Amino acid sequence: MKLVCFDVDGTLIWTSGAGRRAIRRALVDVLGTAGPIDGFRFDGRTDPEIVGQLAAGAGVATEAPLVERVLARYVEFLGEELAKPGHVTLVYAGVRELLSALEARSDCAVGLLTGNVVDGARLKLASAGLDLERFRVGAFGSDSAERSALPAVAQRRARETLGVEVMGEDLVIVGDTPTDMTCGGDVGARAIGVATGAFGVAELLGAGARAAFADLCDTAAVLDATLAP
Ligand SMILES: [Mg+2]
Repeated sequence: MKLVCFDVDGTLIWTSGAGRRAIRRALVDVLGTAGPIDGFRFDGRTDPEIVGQLAAGAGVATEAPLVERVLARYVEFLGEELAKPGHVTLVYAGVRELLSALEARSDCAVGLLTGNVVDGARLKLASAGLDLERFRVGAFGSDSAERSALPAVAQRRARETLGVEVMGEDLVIVGDTPTDMTCGGDVGARAIGVATGAFGVAELLGAGARAAFADLCDTAAVLDATLAP
């Protein structure tokens, strides 16, 4: 059984900056400042990592309860941002077809491995017409601030919810940043890159991707790279 876990932002969907606007509003609401948010890179980082680093950059001590408060407000503001008139969430070309193709196979399960907190992931995916529950296993920023801890979370959830041990390259991580490519190194996961975010194919390959694609449109090629022994 292969467990194919997708990153969200830059990989499956793009929420047109709604996440960044919601984080900014939550930081200002709870801390009175969004810190050095202008120019701060969100991609590849988990939500608690983003909040912790921006708060630290603003000179605010980042204890866990404070980060939790900011993230709770973030989810509220994210819902508002996604519901604004004119908001568009883009689903990248080929995503729906790839998910359907993977789901049609008996030797695969489709999951999520994302820095989003679970409630944020649910809202973002719903804004694109994708149901979080469609993903049978999830590892989220609400599980750990460290992305490198998330592959083991995905393995544990697969054991608990699917009753399968997903070892080594049977865990496949699909993402758009070098951090996605490296986070599964400790558990021997396979990484597949997609250059729909800010990083190119060469950068993703350089970070250790088994294969990398400009986008996910060539379903057969992505399936081949994902499922090949
Ligand atoms: Mg991403």
